[in-house]
Amino acid sequence: MGRIRILSDNVANKIAAGEVVERPASVVKELLENSLDAGATELRIDTENAGRRLIRIQDNGHGMLRDDAMLAFERHATSKLSDVKDLLAIATLGFRGEALPSIASVSRLLLETRSADEQTGAAVEIAGGKLLRCDEIAHPVGTTIAVRDLFYNVPARKKFLRSDQTELAHIGSLVTHYSLAHFDKRFELYHEGRELLNVTPVAGISERAYQVFGSDIMDDLIDLGVRTKELRLPPPYVPPHTRPTHVQAPDAQPPEPDTAHYALRGLVSGPQVQKLNRNSIFLFVNGRLIRDKLILHSLTSAYHNLMPPGCFPFALLFLDCDPGEVDVNVHPAKTEVRFRHGSLVHDFVRDTVRELLIASRPVSSVPLMPRSPVPELTPQAAPAPWGTPRRFEFPDRPIQQGAVLPFSEFSQTLASGGADEPGSWLANPVPTGENSIDQLPEVSLSRTAFGSAPWGAAPSRSIDDKSVVAYAPSRTGRVPDTHGALSQLPAEWDHVDSYTQLPELRPLGQLHESFIVAAGRDGLWIIDQHVAHERILFEQVLRQRAAGRPEIQWLLMPLVLKLTPGQEFEYARIADELNACGFETEPFGQRTIAVKAAPAGVGAADIEKVVFEILEIAEAELRSASLDDVRRSVSATIACRAAIKINTRLESSKIEWLLAALSACEYPMSCPHGRPIALRYSTKDILKSFHRI
Ligand code: ADP
Ligand code: MG
Repeated sequence: MGRIRILSDNVANKIAAGEVVERPASVVKELLENSLDAGATELRIDTENAGRRLIRIQDNGHGMLRDDAMLAFERHATSKLSDVKDLLAIATLGFRGEALPSIASVSRLLLETRSADEQTGAAVEIAGGKLLRCDEIAHPVGTTIAVRDLFYNVPARKKFLRSDQTELAHIGSLVTHYSLAHFDKRFELYHEGRELLNVTPVAGISERAYQVFGSDIMDDLIDLGVRTKELRLPPPYVPPHTRPTHVQAPDAQPPEPDTAHYALRGLVSGPQVQKLNRNSIFLFVNGRLIRDKLILHSLTSAYHNLMPPGCFPFALLFLDCDPGEVDVNVHPAKTEVRFRHGSLVHDFVRDTVRELLIASRPVSSVPLMPRSPVPELTPQAAPAPWGTPRRFEFPDRPIQQGAVLPFSEFSQTLASGGADEPGSWLANPVPTGENSIDQLPEVSLSRTAFGSAPWGAAPSRSIDDKSVVAYAPSRTGRVPDTHGALSQLPAEWDHVDSYTQLPELRPLGQLHESFIVAAGRDGLWIIDQHVAHERILFEQVLRQRAAGRPEIQWLLMPLVLKLTPGQEFEYARIADELNACGFETEPFGQRTIAVKAAPAGVGAADIEKVVFEILEIAEAELRSASLDDVRRSVSATIACRAAIKINTRLESSKIEWLLAALSACEYPMSCPHGRPIALRYSTKDILKSFHRI
């Protein structure tokens, strides 16, 4: 007798459950996706014992016909696909027909449902994959699924579950993120009667983000609006032997290239928000929460040179495209996708986000006392005076409980996907030790402290408002305005918060011969003279390099430098780039080079250091980087060495020149290494601190 047997459906379902149902949050995910696919607009989730004892999801979707209610538990039973062709363009969240039978094989499940087409509903009860009953019941249109005692028959799985707090956190973050993707729907999440999330339908993603995360983050976010792009697709490859050999008629037009439609929406933080890991980046492709190294990489590239390496933004990105452009059938839990035209998508996301960041020119403000709460919601999506990006004014609002639960499986898998995964080319690997499932950071935004860590070291932990509260004086009642009102406040004094104000600044002097202090229409500015000059020079070097005319200085005597074997190798790799940026170098005997000229502005004493620094960067960071990155790093090093140092006294004419040159920069907000250039103590904050408002 042969040895091979076909597995029973029950065994096959349990195997599938191993992939699909990893933990209570996976059950929530599958059931939520089903409800959303059924067109539900109200979703309520109740949990007990962190989802182990109970997960119940109630929706007002289209429900199921009685016959379908039974069929849904058959393996590969789905209403969402009928043909293999449908697999090429999946528009629903589910399509594998595996979730319900898998969940039912490892729990006690009760399904209650009714479709609008039938008068009575159906109840189907299954335990460990065995059908216990199927009755007619009264039920409103929609579906309620209760999953009890998850893994009661798979003790090994049960053992792998983490603490209640962690499992609940996974559920909380999952529901939160789906609620962000579907802001026009109501989501409620309860744990043993305690409300963790309760959000009503709103008009847009910014309002939903406000509902979920509270008002503190809104100041730091930029709404992308809806950015659409028609990507011209490269023609499909035709093998030479099948190409037509006849000569084309002279007037024949080349065929129109195919196009694919993409749209990008969402919110991203300005470079002043610097997270220490990727946990605050949420990516949705066609409404599906996914982890995707390609989009993550394009997002980090958008912040290149605007944020220090190793820091990450907060982002909620929704990419929508023709379903045929993306293969969602890559992973059993449907958390990964593959793009048909990956590099086009990559560049679209990077360029769109970068353009907006540059246009918004946000400025870091001096961390201050928390704002006083305002009772009513007054969304005010006023367009910024300088163009596209929108900023928001919302009253203070506490973060929803569910939202502060840490982000779960997606970011974790991403974060842990280090060197062993093919995608380890990600620019800024997450430092190890921060991914422990039990100590994931909270999903909330706060500003980074300024200047507390030596540069190059890990950025300092964010200051959150709590730490500032301690210093806030108590405010008991209004202080009578006995000292006169402040005159000459511009009408928009509390809205001006951008580097567009730079040209109007009036320099007041220098602090410690290092920081320029200036008065602006919107407050007091403090500008780091070294990084400001660095930014000016950086853009100048890049411009001159692009024009092929770097400004150079010839040395009276060539500078002869001895290289290590490693440096010699790197030199060979980047010699052209060095020369294009204004160096004149050539090999000079064994492991030695002669530098005959250097970029103007780099002091003679610094030339040797600059060359070695560039070689070092090339060796350490840029081995796998693109030529563009090499170019930027070389330019940044030159700019850094040539820039005015701190502890340098500046004539007032020089200060004026510096401010004017900075305001002419394309990106005056941060130095090439991502440090902020200016801080602003806004008039509003000054008035608040003096209790004048
Ligand atoms: P899939 O979602 O991949 O189709 P599932 O096993 O998750 O597979 O669900 C099987 C089928 O059950 C779905 O195709 C759908 O027709 C039906 N179904 C599941 N949940 C719901 C729901 N909440 N409302 C309406 N129909 C549902
Ligand atoms: Mg499903």
